[in-house]
Amino acid sequence: MNQANNKSETALIAGIDALIRDVPDFPKPGIVFKDITPLLSNALHFAASIKFLADRCRAKDPQIVAGPEARGFLFGVPVAMAIDTGFAPIRKKGKLPYRTIEESYELEYGKDTVAVHADAFSPGQKVILVDDVLATGGTMAASKRLVEKCGATVVGAVFLIELGFLDGRSRLDGLPIESLIRY
Ligand code: AMP
Repeated sequence: MNQANNKSETALIAGIDALIRDVPDFPKPGIVFKDITPLLSNALHFAASIKFLADRCRAKDPQIVAGPEARGFLFGVPVAMAIDTGFAPIRKKGKLPYRTIEESYELEYGKDTVAVHADAFSPGQKVILVDDVLATGGTMAASKRLVEKCGATVVGAVFLIELGFLDGRSRLDGLPIESLIRY
C-alpha cells in the first residue's frame, strides 16, 4: 500500500472511531456500551468499515461468514456480500425454526445459549466469524464451538471493535483475530 492510501485509510478509521458513541452505565452500572448506531447512519464511514472488515475476512479465504445476533448481522451480512459468500446467523436459543445445534456459555451471572441450524455449515467448510465487539470473548468462543460441532472449521474472527482490557483473545485458543479499532 502506498503512503497516500495509508493516510486515507488512517483518516477513515479515525472517522469510524469518532462515530462510535460511548454510553456509560448501559445496560448496567459500570459498563461503557459501544453504540455503533451513529456509524450505521453514516453512509461513507459505514461503507468504509464494511470494506475494511471484508478485506480482513477475504485474506482468510473463508467459504461462509457467520455472526451472532443482533449486531453481528449488521456487519456480517454486508461483509458476506462484499466477499461473495453466504451468511449463517448465530441466534439465541429458541429463535431458529428448524433443527438446531446449541452451545452454552457462562455469563457474569448465569449462562446463555447460542444456536445454529443443524445444516448451517457443511463438514470441512471454512467459516469466518464476524461481530461488532469482542469483549470477554464468551460469545465468540461458544460460536466457534458451534461451528466445530457441525464439523466445519473456523479460520478466524473479525471485529469492528476490540475491548483489549477484557482480553477476549485468551478465550479463543489462538484463533486468528482481527479488529479495526482497539480500546
Ligand atoms: P463477549 O461475549 O463478552 O465478548 O460479548 C460480546 C457480545 O456482547 C457482542 O455481541 C457485543 O455486541 C456485546 N458487547 C459486550 N460488551 C459490549 C460493550 N461494552 N459495548 C457494546 N457491545 C458489547
